[in-house]
Amino acid sequence: MNEYRVAIIGAGISGLCAGIYLDRMGIGPFRIFEKAADVGGTWRDNSYPGVECDVPSHLYSYSFAPKADWSREFAPGGEIHGYLRDVADDFALRSRTSFNTAVRKAEFDGQRWRLELSDGEICLADAVISAMGGLHTPHMPDLPGLASFEGPAFHTARWPEGMDLSGKRVAMIGTGASAVQCGPEIARIARHLHVVQRSPVWVGPKSNPTYPADEIRVMQENPEALRARRWALWKGWESTGLEMITPGSSINRRAEARARKHIAAQVADPALRAALTPAYNFTCKRPTLSDDYYRMFNQQNVSLVQGGLKDVDRNGIILDSGQRIEVDAIVFATGFKSFDIRNEIDVRGLHGRSLADVWDERIRTYKTVMAPGMPNFFFLLGPNTAGLTSTYQMIEAACGYIVQALAHLADNGLAWMEPKEVEVDAFCADIQSAYAGTTQNKGCVSWWTDGAGYAHANWPRSSIAYRLMMQDFRPLHFNFDR
Ligand code: NAP
Repeated sequence: MNEYRVAIIGAGISGLCAGIYLDRMGIGPFRIFEKAADVGGTWRDNSYPGVECDVPSHLYSYSFAPKADWSREFAPGGEIHGYLRDVADDFALRSRTSFNTAVRKAEFDGQRWRLELSDGEICLADAVISAMGGLHTPHMPDLPGLASFEGPAFHTARWPEGMDLSGKRVAMIGTGASAVQCGPEIARIARHLHVVQRSPVWVGPKSNPTYPADEIRVMQENPEALRARRWALWKGWESTGLEMITPGSSINRRAEARARKHIAAQVADPALRAALTPAYNFTCKRPTLSDDYYRMFNQQNVSLVQGGLKDVDRNGIILDSGQRIEVDAIVFATGFKSFDIRNEIDVRGLHGRSLADVWDERIRTYKTVMAPGMPNFFFLLGPNTAGLTSTYQMIEAACGYIVQALAHLADNGLAWMEPKEVEVDAFCADIQSAYAGTTQNKGCVSWWTDGAGYAHANWPRSSIAYRLMMQDFRPLHFNFDR
């Protein structure tokens, strides 16, 4: 049976970062378990046409692995995936990764974690890092008739390789960030695209020209210039992020006004314009960026269909209103079961208690990185880490925390640690109270809450505040065992 100091679940942005941090601190041996055949996580899974990032790539990358030759400000998904593949090679992580190996169950035996793998193997680890991503498990609406649909029907994060929608009548369900990106691409080739909108989305302009060759050369030849670019982006996003979710702030109002102007400039028909304009604040849900989304509704082959999807039959979709539309293919841009790893593996901590049970009422963590009763089980991109800036910053900060915790155990001859309930409660109360003062989810419903108004996804403060929290390791907040 293989035994490791640390088992990392997932080889996406978080899992690779965890491996690099452990290596740097000489903590090992560790093993990364990746259920797919390649690294890259969300950027491997999301290959839908038009996929790209909304955060500038010089910031949306590891601080310790800058890339000088990003092709454009917001790189396409394939380029980001390529970057992550390069990082895995540069830091020699592939040989320490078991590909096509899913962790099915993680059970704490009182001293260590026993992992059941999809190939039937069992291994032991002193600590586990869940690096499964915050937006990993697709959310599919409950549609009794879906199995009877005769054409292709798939989620945006499971886009079939080689899928050709040209000449087809396509229904796209949802209007979130994924739909905003793939909708215009489908509209270019489909016979007809029906966009099923339950609620409209705010979309700001996204000018995204390619970087000129001489600008890339400067970045390649001058590491200082590369660092300065990242620093400037970081400062800009950091200083505006929090204000953006502050009710009534001038930047929030300006962003909404810009999006209204964008709709007005792009959509000719006033009724359509009104139907596409949200009735909630710009940052109530996650806003997005596109120069093509609103504009596509002017096309003859695109219709806006208002309402929720209720069911599907052999060759059509059925809306809540009872309206039925005949289609050849369905694209579900219906989002994810956010920040909830219970959907992926069965985790059982102290006294056999499952994470599902611990989180039965609410998803609760200690500082986003640990849950009560789950000794030495750490989360990367855990609950409440969807921030206002590049997710890499949140991940790197949390990696710093985890290596501190593991070093503390080793330095003090301790076997394991778990956060005290009282500290978990204090952290959760603090986060909910900070969240209450933001614009988020006030007047709309999104994946940022659990449906009952409890905010389990977002970090409601700055990334600096997160980093400071992650640097502040407090042994008194934990129960330890030798
Ligand atoms: P999402 O934002 O959760 O959007 C899901 C959409 O599906 C919503 O419009 C939702 O409507 C709709 N929906 C769900 N069930 C439905 C039903 N039965 N009938 C009709 N509509 C239904 O998901 P997403 O677009 O995949 O984005 C998730 C997150 O991933 C983003 O917020 C972002 O953080 C990240 N992302 C980022 C990028 C980028 O960087 N550009 C791109 C893609 C994704 P309601 O709004 O009414 O619930």
